[in-house]
Amino acid sequence: MDCSDCLERLHPYLDRELSERELDEVRVHLDECGGCEPVFVLERVFLERLRGSATSDVCPDEVRERLILRIRQDARGGS
Ligand SMILES: [Zn+2]
Repeated sequence: MDCSDCLERLHPYLDRELSERELDEVRVHLDECGGCEPVFVLERVFLERLRGSATSDVCPDEVRERLILRIRQDARGGS
């Protein structure tokens, strides 16, 4: 699994929609990759905030896309 695969599974992972095998693969990658782990942590906090808030007209997609793009660029530049 590379970073793209991992980030594609971000939401299914957080929503627990992955199979046990996929969950394991994501966990292994998060252990090994310093770039993806903070994204998962941020996203989880983000979702928890969203779910805890009464307003549903927030549109986090653009913010998230930007964040993921930046992390991907960091991952490429760092190696
Ligand atoms: Zn990664």
